[in-house]
Amino acid sequence: MDFALTGEQESFRRAARAFAEKELAPIAGERDETNVYPVELFKRMASAGYLGIKFSSQYGGDDGGILAAAILFEELAAAAAGITLGVYCHVVLALTAIDRIGNDAQKRRYLAPGIRGDKLGAFGSTEAGAGSDITAIATRATRDGDDYILNGAKLFCTNSPLADFIVLSAVTDPEKRGITLFIVERDAPGLSVSRALKTLGMHPAQTAEVVLENVRVPSANRLGEENRGVPNMLTAFAEGRIVAAAFAIGIARAAFEAARQYVLDRVQFGQPIAKNQVVAHRLADMDTDIQAARLLTHQAAWLADNGRPFVKEASQAKVFATETAARIAAQAMHLQGAFGYVLESPAQRYYRDTHVLEIGEGTSEILRNVIAKHLGL
Ligand SMILES: Cc1cc2nc3c(=O)[nH]c(=O)nc-3n(C[C@H](O)[C@H](O)[C@H](O)COP(=O)(O)OP(=O)(O)OC[C@H]3O[C@@H](n4cnc5c(N)ncnc54)[C@H](O)[C@@H]3O)c2cc1C
Repeated sequence: MDFALTGEQESFRRAARAFAEKELAPIAGERDETNVYPVELFKRMASAGYLGIKFSSQYGGDDGGILAAAILFEELAAAAAGITLGVYCHVVLALTAIDRIGNDAQKRRYLAPGIRGDKLGAFGSTEAGAGSDITAIATRATRDGDDYILNGAKLFCTNSPLADFIVLSAVTDPEKRGITLFIVERDAPGLSVSRALKTLGMHPAQTAEVVLENVRVPSANRLGEENRGVPNMLTAFAEGRIVAAAFAIGIARAAFEAARQYVLDRVQFGQPIAKNQVVAHRLADMDTDIQAARLLTHQAAWLADNGRPFVKEASQAKVFATETAARIAAQAMHLQGAFGYVLESPAQRYYRDTHVLEIGEGTSEILRNVIAKHLGL
């Protein structure tokens, strides 16, 4: 049993941290205020090999696997979570669906340019009546010759205002609730995207509503077999939960580090507040929780990379890491007193950014249902 990263993984982690500190961290606060996504970063991430981290070199990827993706997303999220959410939806949702389900032609047309940063993807499952229950969607795809005609609306579709294509789900067999995934060009006639929604956190990420009115999609853009959309999505996104866990650890680590520095610097009653054992113990617990979350996450990534069953472990990692991050961000803000509460302080941003990670990619309740099922309950 080896708990250390290999030399190669460690130098990848160092390079990813240097990239994140140079390119993301300096603009994190400003983009949180302006809500503007730095789309130009996609090209630079592609040049660094980050957009293809978990995909095959056949399509320009890095063959890095899930552990490498987890290492990368922890570093990016620690620097700027709101920017990282856009990268996550492109790589871990849209491109992963095409990588796992698509055919060679679809991979050449969308995955390869997505890895190069030439095309940006979004993923749309959620609708007004379908969140956790991905089978409850109302968007309908009707066959018309060699095409499908799509009608419906997707809510909370991150990247959609900026994307070149959207991978989305639609009902193809209403009687049997058969659902199919499609790749839809963002400029397809009949497709419109609303203004980005205002959210509590993750401000630079552009999350909007997508409306489809008689959108014609060629059958060449059907992803996988007809009516196999739900099992296809579940397969493609089981790994995503591991990366989401690493994402949360990144925010938790940034929140923890800021709090640690503050309690060392802040003097009250003639000594740094870190000298109060109750404060030091809180920091000790925070660090322990981060370490536990990272071990669970890297374990799940290792299982996935080694072809072993990992669904239960991925769910456990995501529940534990996201709930840990939310708790740590709140504690870190509290430890910084009024300074943590002012908008100039990143503490409040970490606090606002974490919560959505307990909702997306399976809420904590849905993931506990998955874990319980694996326990025979
Ligand atoms: C910033 C942001 C970005 C997003 N980006 C995307 C995106 O790019 N693409 C996309 O498709 N979606 C996206 N989403 C939507 C996200 O995936 C959904 O919010 C999520 O799936 C949960 O669905 P819901 O919000 O409808 O909650 P609901 O499913 O309505 O759940 C509400 C509450 O009820 C609980 N609940 C539901 N069912 C059960 C049950 N069986 N047992 C116990 N508790 C239950 C949930 O855990 C939750 O606490 C985004 C959301 C946000 C906030």
